Amino acid sequence: MIGATLLIFLLFATYNFAQYLVLKHWMLKQERDALHVMMSQVQGYLQEQQATKESLESPEASSFIRNILGKNQMIRLIDDKGANLLLVTNHFNPKWITPLPSTTSSLQDAWHGEDHILIYRTPFAIKNESGTVEMATNLETFDHFNATLLWVMVIGGFLAVCISAASGWAIAKQFLRPVKALAVTIQNVKQNGLQERVGNIGNGDELSQLASLFNELMDQLEVSFRQQKQFVDDASHELRTPITILEGHLNMLNRWGKKDPAILEESLNASLQEVRRLKGLVQGLLALSRSDSAALTDHIERIRIEPFMAQTIQRMEDLYPEFAFRMKAEGTGKMLRINPLHLEQMLLIVIENAVKYSAEHKEIDIRCYEENKRVCISIQDYGIGIPTAEIQHVFDRFYRVDRARSREIGGTGLGLAIAKNLISHYQGEIVMTSVEDEGTRVTLSFPAVSS
Ligand code: ADP
Repeated sequence: MIGATLLIFLLFATYNFAQYLVLKHWMLKQERDALHVMMSQVQGYLQEQQATKESLESPEASSFIRNILGKNQMIRLIDDKGANLLLVTNHFNPKWITPLPSTTSSLQDAWHGEDHILIYRTPFAIKNESGTVEMATNLETFDHFNATLLWVMVIGGFLAVCISAASGWAIAKQFLRPVKALAVTIQNVKQNGLQERVGNIGNGDELSQLASLFNELMDQLEVSFRQQKQFVDDASHELRTPITILEGHLNMLNRWGKKDPAILEESLNASLQEVRRLKGLVQGLLALSRSDSAALTDHIERIRIEPFMAQTIQRMEDLYPEFAFRMKAEGTGKMLRINPLHLEQMLLIVIENAVKYSAEHKEIDIRCYEENKRVCISIQDYGIGIPTAEIQHVFDRFYRVDRARSREIGGTGLGLAIAKNLISHYQGEIVMTSVEDEGTRVTLSFPAVSS
């Protein structure tokens, strides 16, 4: 702002000074032209009247010259020796100018004290005499006008700069208000944490948009920070349970187990189970962390869904021979663009859930079909199902509908969270519908690509 004010001041001062100089020169030229005109009138009179030295003393000559003379001026005719032939003045002291016969025309500036005088001399010749016409004009009025003009310009310029500085300051203050608020908020965020926001700036310009964007960003950061904290709390809680159980068994072994083979056997088995559980949890956490990564969409391949599903189901049949997997493919010639390892991981999570929560009814129906240019895979089991109110939470990390039961089965509550994370990288969707004690259907859908 100071820079802009200085620049305005410089431009204004230069413009004013240039204007002053141009005006001054123009007015001085006007004065000189006026003297020239007067001189030619006097010369014309002398020629026209066939003037003689004597006629110059007549009242007519004086009267003619007085008529053309302006205020603060003098016209003097002198002979070649400098003696006065005719002198007419109007508010001008002739003593200020020494008579000076001249053979050529000359226009000169002279000073008498503070008075600026313009002198014009031209030789003349009449019947019986020759000499010099001297004209002088006191530029007092001109100088006074010039001084006044200079002051007006200086004061006007100063006032203009003051006004422009004051309005510039006001505009800059208004303009920088959101930036200042933003800076203060960032400082507060540094000191007090993520809950700080920029207050209402509300003039709708780009800077206030920036401030509201900053607020939105802080909202998102706060949410993800809270989620992160929640995740660390949950993960530590999940890890603490098996570690506590493991510690209990090891203590028991230490005290009595060494001599009692029954306790030794039982505690070792229980400890091994907890270690397996810990391993599962750590693997789950790793998979979850990887599923967040942006580098996920590397190694993408075009996959034809039917053979891929057949292969996956074959593996499931080998793993769970007591289950009947029924696959129905409804002519999906379309393909998927996906990393095959990720598709397999998602299918395993969903199919293993179907297996885990199937209870006595050991049948699973798998359907591949095409709907609205999307390839869909649905996995239907006829197991314990999920209460409607809980369905919305099953994709949250560590969420388990029936904790005790899920723990028994070996669930960590991470599977569906991993599947949801993975599928989001492929513009895919995972939807779950379930009826308690009747069964659950999970549908995965992806954008189809032509084969
Ligand atoms: P988990 O390792 O516990 O199975 P998931 O994230 O895969 O973790 O599933 C979260 C919870 O959703 C499970 O604990 C279970 O309660 C419920 N759930 C998931 N799939 C099914 C299903 N097919 N039938 C019934 N309940 C299910």
